[in-house]
Order: sequence, then structure tokens, then C-alpha cells
Amino acid sequence: MWRVLFNALPVKVNLERRGIVEYASCPHCLFASEDIPHAFWFCSKAKKVWKLTALWPLLAGFPGGSFADLFCWVVDFGVGDDFQSFVLVRWSIWIARNTFVFEGKISSSKDIVDRAGRSWMNFLLASSSHIGFRDRVLMTPVWAPPLVGSIKVNVDASVVESVDYFAIGIVGRDHEGNVLFAIAKYLSENFSPHFVELLAVKKGVRMAIQFQESHWIVESDALTVIKSIQSSNPFAQDDLVAQEIRTACSNSVDASIIHCSKKINQVAHLLASRCLQLKCNILFKDTIPIFLKKTVIFDRPL
Ligand SMILES: [Zn+2]
Repeated sequence: MWRVLFNALPVKVNLERRGIVEYASCPHCLFASEDIPHAFWFCSKAKKVWKLTALWPLLAGFPGGSFADLFCWVVDFGVGDDFQSFVLVRWSIWIARNTFVFEGKISSSKDIVDRAGRSWMNFLLASSSHIGFRDRVLMTPVWAPPLVGSIKVNVDASVVESVDYFAIGIVGRDHEGNVLFAIAKYLSENFSPHFVELLAVKKGVRMAIQFQESHWIVESDALTVIKSIQSSNPFAQDDLVAQEIRTACSNSVDASIIHCSKKINQVAHLLASRCLQLKCNILFKDTIPIFLKKTVIFDRPL
């Protein structure tokens, strides 16, 4: 990152100055000279990438200035993991630019964000302790696969308040994004939406352990549920279920319960809502129902 801040990256303008290239035009848009602010911010290609990330609301408020100013803006006003995300996406834009210049390979904006997301996930997994409870909202709006040998289970619940039935959707995928199982359960009880989401996590954990006893991740978009699992509250009525999940985590070598955005959780969401519509259970193993195909393909890592 310091090379960016000190204008020491071999962008076209710097190469032209040293007589290495004849023209300094941006290889992507051919519209402007490729200096550091252009390559990472002003270029329409770079803008498209930033817009796909969860950083965009923060970046869109940037009043303008040099790339170093943008960097300081993220340091000053970013929250949580914004800074790390910024560095990774910037890095991924640079990799994409180089593979285009040197190998002629075009990366889509989604490819670029995905690569940053994968690096982020690998970093999180590498830095996780034995039991990793993580409540981060993932940086990218895309689903990230687990590491090789691990399984990721996404869970979601579909509830209509004040009726006495609900549905839970659970999908398990491997490191290549292959669907190992897709399940939706229709249950006839009148529970609160919070409790139903908690049950979805519990069932997801059970399924994960069945498939991959000690290395698994369960992902849910219900933040309050993840929080209630993280911190024991003996006064909470549902703490027994949360405790069961905590125990399952601590009995596994590398287990995590992660919070994700709703966008990332689309497959589990579709399963649950379709199940609620049909009022019957859905069970697919090593294959997927047609109504999920498009979303699963969209989630697939490149
Ligand atoms: Zn450009």
C-alpha cells in the first residue's frame, strides 16, 4: 500500500516518465492518463468495482482529493473492517489491471471483488482461533466458499408472524461451491422469528457436523441470533438452544458461526420461502432443485 501512497507503482504515467512506454493512456478506458488516482479511483472500471462492495456508501461520500486523501478518508471514517477491505479491493484492482496488461485477460468487476473477498475469508480463517465466532458482515456482496476440506452451511428461516407455521432452509456447499445438500423443513409451531432463526442455525450446525464433523462454517443473516449465540444470557428463554450451538462449536476443531448479508444468503432464503409456499419438506442431496440453479451458479466461486 505504501507504494500507492508514495506514487511508486508502475502505472503508465510513471512508466512514460521513465521512457518505458510511449503512451500513458489507461489500458481499460483509454480515456485518461493512467496515474494512481485514475487507476484506483477515477477510472470507470475501478468505480464499477468499488460500487459492488459494501464500502461504496463510505467512498461515495469522499469529497475529492488525491488517492492518499481517499486512503485517509477510509482510515478516519471507516468502521469495523473497512480499512482492510479497502486495501484488499485496491490490491485486487491492481492484479486485474496487470493480468489485463500482461496476459490480455479481462476480469469482470465481480471477479475483482470476489478475489478480494476470497483473500479476506482466507485471512479470517487463517487467523481464527479454535472456536471462531464471527459476526462480521462480509465485505463483498458475494458468497465466499469455505477452505478445502471444510463445509459451509447457509441457513435461513421464513416466518409469517402470527401464524403457527414456519420454514427453515439449509444449504451445504464445499470449497468449489458444489451443493452437497439442500433441505427445507416445514414446521408447524408458533415461535418468534428470533427463535425460528435460532433453530435454523441449530439445524444447520447439525447438518454441518453430519457432513464434515470438525471443519465447518454456518452462515446466517440474522445478526441478533448470532449475537445471542456469542454471549451466554442465562435469563434468555432460548439460551438452552444457543448453549447447544456453543457446545457443538467448541467440540469441533475449526467451527464458526458467521453473520452475512441477506444478499449472500439467497439460496437458503429461497429454499425456506419455497418450502413455506409448498407447505412440504424439500430434500436434495448432491443435486439442487431447478428454482435454485440460477442463484447457486451466481454464488459459485470463479
Ligand atoms: Zn481508465
